[in-house]
Amino acid sequence: MQTNFTAEQLTDPHIAEAESILRKCVHCGFCTATCPTYVTLGNELDSPRGRIYLIKDMLENGRPADKDLVTHIDRCLSCLACTTTCPSGVDYMHLVDHARIHIEKTYRRPLVNRLTRAVLAMTLPYPARFRAALRLARLGRPFSGLLKRVPALRPLGAMLDLAPASVPPVSAIARPAVHPAAGERHGRVAILTGCAQGVLDPGINAATVRLLTRLGIEVVVPEGEGCCGALVHHMGREEQALASARRNVDVWIREIDDDGLDAIVITASGCGTTIKDYGHMLRLDPHYAGKAERVSALAKDVTEYLSTLELPMQERKNLTVAYHSACSLQHGQKVTMAPKALLRNAGFTVRDPAEGHLCCGSAGTYNIMQSEISAKLKARKVKNLEATKPDVIAAGNIGCLTQIASGTSVPIVHTVELLDWAYGGEKPPGLA
Ligand code: SF4
Ligand code: SF4
Repeated sequence: MQTNFTAEQLTDPHIAEAESILRKCVHCGFCTATCPTYVTLGNELDSPRGRIYLIKDMLENGRPADKDLVTHIDRCLSCLACTTTCPSGVDYMHLVDHARIHIEKTYRRPLVNRLTRAVLAMTLPYPARFRAALRLARLGRPFSGLLKRVPALRPLGAMLDLAPASVPPVSAIARPAVHPAAGERHGRVAILTGCAQGVLDPGINAATVRLLTRLGIEVVVPEGEGCCGALVHHMGREEQALASARRNVDVWIREIDDDGLDAIVITASGCGTTIKDYGHMLRLDPHYAGKAERVSALAKDVTEYLSTLELPMQERKNLTVAYHSACSLQHGQKVTMAPKALLRNAGFTVRDPAEGHLCCGSAGTYNIMQSEISAKLKARKVKNLEATKPDVIAAGNIGCLTQIASGTSVPIVHTVELLDWAYGGEKPPGLA
């Protein structure tokens, strides 16, 4: 694609990067076929190619974002299916990240939208606040229908709908600790405790620690870890996202330099995609660029790390698993085979649903902010998963687990919970 940035504009490294991404796009439109919003809405401006044009126009003319552009960029799930499909290697992720930062800096959103986003940014990344908010949301749940009737208040209604009926108690697994390997130590990893997942389902990290320590891996929960920054990063709140990244980089570099780490294991693939991008996010910060690169190089989805451990093949079980491949794992991190291979090796029958490339509609805060599109994507995903006639659904991202669980009666668990069970751990509570 031809671009018309001025030499002065290109002195800004963010604009220079956007320009080099834009130049790779050859307008072929292959990406439209796999874009969930284009597939759902049928509007070119809700396709990757349409959004790329909108972003190009805004950046080239150096103008503030307007309502039209914000509508179409807000509808993007950041699922990155387009990056998997694109034959030209267009780095849509970093382009839309840049557009979101530009929107945040130049566009004044309507009051309720502003407030909702502020509440989410001040709550979700902080486990104690998130836990308190979930308890409050339970009380407000009867009013969700009323709120959803007013378009501007729909996100608040969606937020109440998503609140679980009960919140698990605070888990010891989130506390700083060293979990020693059982028997001889073969490796040492840090595990991300994160934010929302630890509140919604602490059993996921508990299963990971049990499994890894049984396999001879020491697991450390370092003091000072926190939210990876993904949720606010996708809102364009750059400074808040970078502050989270710097804090985590400091924590993990200390751990790497003290006792060494073979990997930073992440059980929420949305977080994994962001942590693997820390090197890029902090590339212009001379104090952090090198350290962030080291951290990103060590970041591994739990299934990626488990694949390096050569787990023994287990006896076949009479249990069919529909595997939902989270977008952040398949498109963001290109981890596609490892989770299914591990499950098969562990004795499960694994089925792939149709349209596995399409997002379930969770996408961070998308199911709150864009609840109507999200609901359509959820219904489509659930139909495809249920069509495989599974005994259980497995996925590797808490957002997907919560989203899909709200649309089906089929039990749904994290992949690592099934693996822990297959290798001598507890039966996942979701299957009890
Ligand atoms: S990230 Fe997903 S929703 Fe956004 S343009 Fe790409 S395919 Fe479409
Ligand atoms: S597939 Fe790639 S090159 Fe083709 S229109 Fe989409 S982003 Fe551009």
